[in-house]
Amino acid sequence: MAIPFYDFKNLHHEKFRTNIKDKVCKIIDEGSFIEGHYNFEFEKDFAIKQGAKHCLLVANGTDALEISLLAYDIKPGDRVGIPGITFYATAEAVLNIGAIPVFIDVDSKTGLIDLASTERMIEKENLKAIIPVHIYGMPAPIKDLENICSPRNIKIIEDAAQAQGALLPTGAIGSTQNLTTFSFYPTKNLSAFGDAGAILTQDDMLAEKIKSIRNHGRGSDEILGRNSRCDHIQAAVLYSKLKEIDTFNKNRKTTAKKYFEALKDLPFQLLPDHFIETSSWHLFPVQLDSQKQRLDLAAHLKKCEIPTAPYYELSLSQMNQLKKYSGEKENAENFSGKTLCLPIHPFLSDSDVAQVTQVVRGFYA
Ligand SMILES: *Cc1c(COP(=O)(O)O)cnc(C)c1O
Repeated sequence: MAIPFYDFKNLHHEKFRTNIKDKVCKIIDEGSFIEGHYNFEFEKDFAIKQGAKHCLLVANGTDALEISLLAYDIKPGDRVGIPGITFYATAEAVLNIGAIPVFIDVDSKTGLIDLASTERMIEKENLKAIIPVHIYGMPAPIKDLENICSPRNIKIIEDAAQAQGALLPTGAIGSTQNLTTFSFYPTKNLSAFGDAGAILTQDDMLAEKIKSIRNHGRGSDEILGRNSRCDHIQAAVLYSKLKEIDTFNKNRKTTAKKYFEALKDLPFQLLPDHFIETSSWHLFPVQLDSQKQRLDLAAHLKKCEIPTAPYYELSLSQMNQLKKYSGEKENAENFSGKTLCLPIHPFLSDSDVAQVTQVVRGFYA
């Protein structure tokens, strides 16, 4: 049988469906469609799980980034540093509030934001904030970034859209003093039945400000808000899925371990193996030598009914709508186009993993 890249069928198994149907009926009976009790229960549980004082649900992961920038008082025209290897939304959030993205280069082996480039861009571009991305699920070097940024009062927003379940050396993602944002888009590790997102913070005042911004500026006559509330039904789904997420993330890690064992001698680059224990394994990228090799391996796998994804075919600085922004781009542009992600959802069986690794090895035989 063909292996799916995302397995929604097993994720939403019979027992889970029954549980959700009951919760949705309850919400219909109550007529509590927006910011209902599951919102508050999820916010409480998720904050505890991630080591944060507050969790604020919002409408999606891009809003979570935008609202974080607004909460930090980033103004139109301010410059915000972002890595080139990330999903488009990281740049979009900066542009949507009228700020200017500046590219910070990435580590050539991982695609994570590079520390030396961060320091150079801070000096040269007068950055007000940076958005390190825990890309593919790997924790970015937050402690080192804090050491660079806090003496200069530069804000850090951690884009953890792909990193629920990842571990920083100091604790869970979300346990730092920075604002941390999540997306619960249906393909993410922790996912809703549509769009949802969240912001984590330790700071009472920022939490109050975020609450106001997401709900039309309510409670303030100074804040220009918006509607970025999270539906009660999405919160109920997230609240229910939170009970299973550790098992699912453990399964991803087990698959990652097996891939490392079975593929480490092949002529492509895996991520550094110390990430086996600390990544959330949202994706499992391998780096080929060239774009052609990536296309050839993808075609070979497709022929054998194994789906792959080329995240990220272009670094942000190569996209037409973002080309004009300045910064350091070299490693990111080298990294993109040569990456192929193998399936790593939580329901791959031993034989699925064996099938993937055999077909990959077959390509090089
Ligand atoms: C998915 C994602 C987002 C955006 O989330 P949405 O919920 O789709 O708005 C932002 N950043 C990264 C790195 C993502 O993977």
